[in-house]
Amino acid sequence: MGRAVVIGGGITGTLTACELLADGWDVVVVEGQHVGAGSSSRTAAGIRQQFSTRETVLGMRYSVGVYRDWAETMGGGGEPIQQNGYLFLYDTEGQWEAAQARVADQHAWGLTEVEALNAAEVADRFPFVDADTILGGTHCPTDGFLRPEVVYNEAATALRMRGGELRQNAIVTGAEHAGGCLVAVQTSKGRVEGDVFVDATNAWTRRVGPLLGGLDLPVAAYKRYLWFLERGDAMSPAELMAMPLTIAPSGTYCRPENSGSLMVGWKHSAPDVSADFTYEDQDAVEAAHSHKSGIDARPFEAWMALAEVLPPVGEFAGIVATTAGFYGTTPDHNPFLDVDPQVPNLIRLVGFSGHGAMFGPFAARVAACLAQAGRSIDSVEVLGEDAELASFRIGRPFSHGESMVI
Ligand SMILES: Cc1cc2nc3c(=O)[nH]c(=O)nc-3n(C[C@H](O)[C@H](O)[C@H](O)COP(=O)(O)OP(=O)(O)OC[C@H]3O[C@@H](n4cnc5c(N)ncnc54)[C@H](O)[C@@H]3O)c2cc1C
Repeated sequence: MGRAVVIGGGITGTLTACELLADGWDVVVVEGQHVGAGSSSRTAAGIRQQFSTRETVLGMRYSVGVYRDWAETMGGGGEPIQQNGYLFLYDTEGQWEAAQARVADQHAWGLTEVEALNAAEVADRFPFVDADTILGGTHCPTDGFLRPEVVYNEAATALRMRGGELRQNAIVTGAEHAGGCLVAVQTSKGRVEGDVFVDATNAWTRRVGPLLGGLDLPVAAYKRYLWFLERGDAMSPAELMAMPLTIAPSGTYCRPENSGSLMVGWKHSAPDVSADFTYEDQDAVEAAHSHKSGIDARPFEAWMALAEVLPPVGEFAGIVATTAGFYGTTPDHNPFLDVDPQVPNLIRLVGFSGHGAMFGPFAARVAACLAQAGRSIDSVEVLGEDAELASFRIGRPFSHGESMVI
């Protein structure tokens, strides 16, 4: 089949490398620092199938299956997925009606286990929710969250054990072309030739894509924060560990990190720093977003917003840590999964818009189909059905994007 060069060793790159190897390609991954050096080690790693379009629901059903069957297919000892479910809560008529209509669509798209629950049903099933503060919620029990380090580390190990190559500290600095196609990339660890190339650099793609002769895709790098709340006595360890990833009407979300700690996130407006952020910038915490900045800072606002609907969370002991990373975000919150129109043997898997951990297996499958076809394709078959790729195409209009963004 030839040689595939995957640029970037996060969840997308390592899973894509394994998929290409399984399809018969010789594979080399070139990673600028080390496996997991980007957003993949800084993620909340939620995985949900509750989306607003058929292709994403189908794609995420496929991803859940891959993570569930991980030990069998990847051969490692880890279990990457914890299926605690996702619980979206709503407090306005308009949003609650739209959510119920979405559940009907999701059923039609094969996500039969998702349910719309009225406020009393939510509180009955999830006693930590105050029924008086909501109109209802949607719950999908097979959603959940990942241990991302299991994903990229075990995928990298499987890649090497099956004959693939992983070059770390090999930052791509240039590219060579012949007849309009890429033939090699230059890296800080030498030249790497290939027949097909995959850009899996997500938040870095505005710098890496043009370096490869590809389009400058609209993928903004936005800072996102996570905060960690210590449990105290408000919930038992078992109650905390059983919590679904819960999204409050304000957009704040939380999920158990471990039996003593709740992870909390909330998006905010941030500048696009895709042109020049450094590796160190990923972990930089602005004062306004630090738990060390006092009770006027964003983490305390997030904690209080959660406590309005989840009273026991208001009784937690305190915020003990802040972490950060970048989302690589497109204008319509769908990723680009396509061949670059300027370079026929360059596949772009970027712009995951905060969904890259869950998209990983699906993106890898799409990449393998694109590599096999050697051109843009209209759909891929997953779970015996065709997932249309128009929403992930480079050059699409950005008018019909993903509406469920957190
Ligand atoms: C706070 C936060 C919360 C999140 N929550 C979720 C969530 O709940 N669910 C979800 O699915 N996603 C979530 N995400 C998003 C998710 O983490 C990312 O979409 C995903 O990790 C992207 O993986 P990736 O492999 O595409 O990119 P990355 O993990 O960023 O990997 C890109 C790699 O490219 C390498 N690279 C860059 N430039 C070069 C170069 N020139 N040469 C060689 N290598 C290079 C980098 O070193 C890096 O390792 C969250 C992200 C953050 C920051």
